[in-house]
Amino acid sequence: AAGADRKAETTPVNDHAETQTTERSDYGFQADVARLLELMTHSVYSERDIFLRELVSNSADAIEKLRFETVANEGLAAQAGAPLVTIALDKEARTLSVADNGVGMSREDLVAALGTIASSGTRAFLDDLEAKGGADKGGSLIGRFGIGFYSAFMVADRIEVATRRAGASEAFLWTSEGKGSFQIAPLATEDAPAVGTKVTLHLNAESDEFLEPYRIEQILREHSGAIAIPIDLVEEKG
Ligand code: ADP
Ligand code: MG
Repeated sequence: AAGADRKAETTPVNDHAETQTTERSDYGFQADVARLLELMTHSVYSERDIFLRELVSNSADAIEKLRFETVANEGLAAQAGAPLVTIALDKEARTLSVADNGVGMSREDLVAALGTIASSGTRAFLDDLEAKGGADKGGSLIGRFGIGFYSAFMVADRIEVATRRAGASEAFLWTSEGKGSFQIAPLATEDAPAVGTKVTLHLNAESDEFLEPYRIEQILREHSGAIAIPIDLVEEKG
């Protein structure tokens, strides 16, 4: 029942969203997700660097899911390529991106995964915070619950997710400033990943440290050491 309620709360602002899948559409975040985002964007947490662990683990999960699908699909296997996560830093644009050649997301996947469904970690995080009367500013809770993708709004004031579901001809761009709504628009083939997903964080004014390669390497060593997939770190020069 909770799932159905949640779904109903995320209604496309544009009423044609269901039928005109080629159009850009606006969506409201599900209530728990909106609350979490409010906390992420307006509170000061000490463990902001865990955003990278969350994005890298999502990429690793996506690569694992694609590997599973390719077992039964040779065509897909040929497209997939060697598993790789690429982290790119662009000091001029003030962006950090995490790209993978994993399973990617359809439009429906994007709406559900990055808007409608609050992860169990999100729910547990909010419950725990509530139980403490909101007194705990979240410090260690964030690291403990693994609140996932949305933690990136601690360090970014805008996030873009460019993605193509494995085997699909169409690709999409999810965009949000984390303030109650997100947008999804079709992505031209030349702007889209051939396979997988690229998450681009437009870093906020407090997050310059995450443009420094040594800092990223330090975070990866500390939090993503167990990831079995190769991770490339590149600096993009403007
Ligand atoms: P969790 O990983 O615990 O499910 P997240 O908030 O980290 O929660 O991610 C939510 C969902 O978004 C994932 O379950 C997945 O379906 C989707 N997702 C996030 N990042 C990616 C990615 N890089 N590739 C494919 N799907 C992704
Ligand atoms: Mg995750």
